[in-house]
Amino acid sequence: MTRTTPPRPVDIAAVFPEIAPFARTATRLHPRPGTPGVRDSSVGGPLLWPSGEPWPVCTEPHENEGDFVRLDAERRRRRLLSAAWGRTRRGERSAFTPEEHDELRRLDGETADPDTPTTMLAVAQLYLRDVPDLVGPPGADVLQILWCPRDHDYIHCPALELRWRRSAEVTDVLAEQPEPEVMEYEYLPNPCVLHPEQFVEYPYDDFLPGDLRERIRAWEKSSGNRYFYELSIADGWKVGGYAAWNLTDPMPMVCDCGADMELLLRIDSSEWDGTQSWRPIEDAGPESEFHEHPSRSTPTEIVIGRGYSLWVFTCPISFDHPHRLSMQ
Ligand SMILES: [Zn+2]
Ligand SMILES: [Zn+2]
Repeated sequence: MTRTTPPRPVDIAAVFPEIAPFARTATRLHPRPGTPGVRDSSVGGPLLWPSGEPWPVCTEPHENEGDFVRLDAERRRRRLLSAAWGRTRRGERSAFTPEEHDELRRLDGETADPDTPTTMLAVAQLYLRDVPDLVGPPGADVLQILWCPRDHDYIHCPALELRWRRSAEVTDVLAEQPEPEVMEYEYLPNPCVLHPEQFVEYPYDDFLPGDLRERIRAWEKSSGNRYFYELSIADGWKVGGYAAWNLTDPMPMVCDCGADMELLLRIDSSEWDGTQSWRPIEDAGPESEFHEHPSRSTPTEIVIGRGYSLWVFTCPISFDHPHRLSMQ
């Protein structure tokens, strides 16, 4: 099923034509629960990984103060919650069986040793053919993203590993992919297939030229429109387009080589917020009489900080230059 972002309440370029040259496309990925394979684009799916290539391991220092869980216990916990809520009618008490209650209590009480070595976890796989705003090195056609699902000293979020490869060269696919034993539970993505959709974005308002920002602010007051929340940058996982800086002030993202970095990917905690402005038309269908867990707006169940996003920047000069992260 395709996913379609609803039209914006107003076309900002019709109201302020001088913003038109700043229009830039992004690809909303629209992850939804599914069973992706190694030849599919996915979040939380298996990677097309050569059997002879070592799987990445994190060597960065970790913060050991989070909520550590065993990965298999977290998967079990999610299955239990999803099944029990799935047979709970809205407005009624949760339909957990006594056995489920006991098992959840046991899983919640389980402790995990944070000093376990950290194998990286597959987070996303993006084939160029599926994501129009993705640009890769010559010949490469798939981007693989892994992360160490722990908080790291320097940024308080997972450490990412980006791998570009030529899918045709992978003939002997690694059958059983390594996984970390212990992780912070918010960093386990549910397996999702993608429904990419290209969309036009406009700059974060601090970067609007001249006095345009002030004029848009004045127009917001008189018209009731909200440039930042509804007219500029899309919610949810996406590739390309503009970055938001609503948690900190804008910070220069400059590569060690001196180049201004570009936004590669937004990893978001939810696909749309409570206003539902960014909820695709296809997801607005009638809700079931039963609870949905996870909710439609949080298909991956990844949570960044307190419901923020992780923004991944890369250097336009070389794919070999290290990426940088921002949490907003
Ligand atoms: Zn790590
Ligand atoms: Zn660079």
